[in-house]
Amino acid sequence: MKLLFEIAINFAANINCKKDGCLECKTCKTILKGKNPNLYVLEPAGNSFLVEEIEGLIYQMSISSVNNEFKIAIIKEADLMGSLGGITFNKMLKTLEDPPDEKCIFILLTEDIDAIIPTVKSRCQIFNWIFNSNGSESYNEKFIYIKNEVENLLKSIISDRKNVFNALNFSIKVSNFIPEFSSEIVKEQKKAIEIVRKSGFDEDEINKIIKKIDSNYERKVKKVTNLIISYVFDIIAAYLEDIVAAIAGAKKEALHYKDNYNIIIENYKLEDINKYINLLESVRENKIYISNEINYEIALDKVILGFVQS
Ligand SMILES: [Zn+2]
Repeated sequence: MKLLFEIAINFAANINCKKDGCLECKTCKTILKGKNPNLYVLEPAGNSFLVEEIEGLIYQMSISSVNNEFKIAIIKEADLMGSLGGITFNKMLKTLEDPPDEKCIFILLTEDIDAIIPTVKSRCQIFNWIFNSNGSESYNEKFIYIKNEVENLLKSIISDRKNVFNALNFSIKVSNFIPEFSSEIVKEQKKAIEIVRKSGFDEDEINKIIKKIDSNYERKVKKVTNLIISYVFDIIAAYLEDIVAAIAGAKKEALHYKDNYNIIIENYKLEDINKYINLLESVRENKIYISNEINYEIALDKVILGFVQS
């Protein structure tokens, strides 16, 4: 999110600067500092955006800009917009679709594009960035570990279609990955709380801050969970695509996992192809709704059982 925000804020400076984004002039400097009258940065408080802050943003974008420059709204963690209340959310959608004037630019930031609800996504132009440096080494290692584990589990499931027990174990094993990822977040949270406790503020103030810290970290854990589940769904989708392709007659070389070709041909039949196409569709749907508090274990069980039952 930090790098994404940097890109957004530099873009904002660039677009309003009279000297091609010199980074030196008053416009550039005030925007980069986040203290420009035409710049609005919005971020969620805890698990969602505050209705009054969204309302405030909609109002700010509706009044005329200072110096006739662009009014730029940067919304961080825009994937959490889906949890907004009805009227405000509809107002926001309307503003995105039909901005008050030609000086409005809305920049929505997210680390997980699939978590942006389709009605918002369809109103946006999408740019993707992949940051190699995002996350620590151990974070990347953990993802490789998950990838290997999930692939091995799925391979054993498609190799033994009669083994329902094996399939039902999948979601349990996946949920075991989450504490491994979130342990660092929990450690940070404890540290932050400790610092606040030692701060010398009065009890009421301390409790207020701790409550805020807790809800911020709760959100972080939820995001990591969503990221992992979304990643697992991607691997499942690749497996399903392979099944559909192979039984429809594709060559081994066309598969994501070429080594699985013979296993698929032995265990899956062309007459069931519609079932796997539907399953693939439901994986994509589940991915979209992950952020809307779906019970991912039930969702995973449902999909994985589709691999074994005929
Ligand atoms: Zn400038």
